Amino acid sequence: MTLKPKFNIPEEVKIISRVLWSAKFENFLVGGCVRDILLGKKPKDWDITTSALPREIEALFENTFYENAYGTVGVVNDTTTDSTLKVVEITPYRTESGYSDFRHPDGVKWAKTLEEDLKRRDFTINALALDIEKVELIDLFDGEKDLKKNVIRTVGDPNERFTEDALRMLRALRFASELGFAIDSDTLLAIDKNKNLLEHVSKERIRDEFVKIIMSDNPSVALGIATQLGLLQYISPEFERGVGMEQNKAHAYTVWEHLLRSLDHAAKKNYPLHVRIAVLLHDIAKPHTRKWQNEQWTFYGHDVVGAKVTKQILTDLKFPKEIIDKVLKLVRWHMFFSDTETITLSAVRRMVRNVTPELIWDLMDVRAADRIGTGRPKESPYRLRKYHSMIEEVMRDPISVKQLKVSGGDVMKIASITPGPKIGFILEILLSEVLDDPKRNETGYLEERVKELATLPENELRKQGSEARSRNESEDEKESEEIKKKFGVK
Ligand code: ATP
Ligand code: MG
Repeated sequence: MTLKPKFNIPEEVKIISRVLWSAKFENFLVGGCVRDILLGKKPKDWDITTSALPREIEALFENTFYENAYGTVGVVNDTTTDSTLKVVEITPYRTESGYSDFRHPDGVKWAKTLEEDLKRRDFTINALALDIEKVELIDLFDGEKDLKKNVIRTVGDPNERFTEDALRMLRALRFASELGFAIDSDTLLAIDKNKNLLEHVSKERIRDEFVKIIMSDNPSVALGIATQLGLLQYISPEFERGVGMEQNKAHAYTVWEHLLRSLDHAAKKNYPLHVRIAVLLHDIAKPHTRKWQNEQWTFYGHDVVGAKVTKQILTDLKFPKEIIDKVLKLVRWHMFFSDTETITLSAVRRMVRNVTPELIWDLMDVRAADRIGTGRPKESPYRLRKYHSMIEEVMRDPISVKQLKVSGGDVMKIASITPGPKIGFILEILLSEVLDDPKRNETGYLEERVKELATLPENELRKQGSEARSRNESEDEKESEEIKKKFGVK
């Protein structure tokens, strides 16, 4: 790694700094942006620390907003097109306020000097400040040396720093993954010693670091250290269950190792968050479903149980519902049967319906990562390409009751029945027929069928309707489970 000696500070940031200095307030670029500049990377955002207090900052700039409990004032740049410069955050010097309940900061305490502010920061590489006017680096804790050595080390005594705020342990792992740095040995020892304090950290804060780990280029670096040090349980106890768990002969890796390898592939492919999480969790229920049968381990139903476990894990971590819903669909259907020799278009159609058209290509990405993560992929890329072309073929076919050429209203008229469950059963039967063959989605044919179905006795219609519904929802699944059992594939 070569450090870039020339700092490239955007004009917007320089102006803010000049305004603050002209009002006699000290101010410096600080934290992640200084670290990234020195690494020759484009900073994600620009943070300034200053001797000015929030009200004094607000008075100096036209368009500001007072952000949060940390005393941060955002200066808004309307004219820029660079998203990292739309808001530049200015925070008064602060000092370590402590987290006596390990959960909430005890309150914000202003500090008088830059030194105090830098001292409360987590790692030496995050505690560098840059005087923008003089283009001078203020490096009180050998942060530049650690940057050059690619080392993550706490500012001051690691045991104290992790006791003040346990989340820092997870942040150390996150930066190891993001930057590809090693964690200094004393810092690592302190993580091992203090890991149980993570129990008190709020799930939201843990989730935010977990997301950053997952979104880094090499998530298995952080998750690998977490595995070795026994930190996984603080993200989710479910993660630990697959550690060291052997699978059958077709798998070169243990359950957890397979998940980590799959996730690294998803990161390499730059898949979005919900796909990466699904990749990490797709086999999460293997430990729940493992059975010794016919001289080998089987994991029947790990996809169904997996969706439940996934929901639990992500709800515990307070993920938004929108993400949870997507991930659990992907986990639920990751075992889709893809033998294009035996599979029918109607089964592919049902799979698109199950996972939804919005997520079908994400499901293919989950499978691709799963394949690579096994080390010796059984499934040929040719077969998957063929499956993809089958998806394309069925993508425009009707897959929901809404897309049928007859509506609930039509059914009521044709069969002269009043609103009630009968209509739903009839529509479900029609859909089932259309899923088998989309050419049947034609008014003449469907109207005839409605007439026929309307003559059935109520209990017979109910029976056929429920059968159609469960077939619509899971035919592919049943079909594939049977075939897989028959061929001894798991
Ligand atoms: P990124 O580029 O991912 O935003 P960052 O270093 O800016 O990385 P942030 O979480 O945005 O990370 O935090 C900004 C800065 O605030 C850090 O560089 C660090 O100096 C300080 N900081 C953040 N969280 C903590 C913490 N829990 N304890 C001590 N200092 C912290
Ligand atoms: Mg930041």
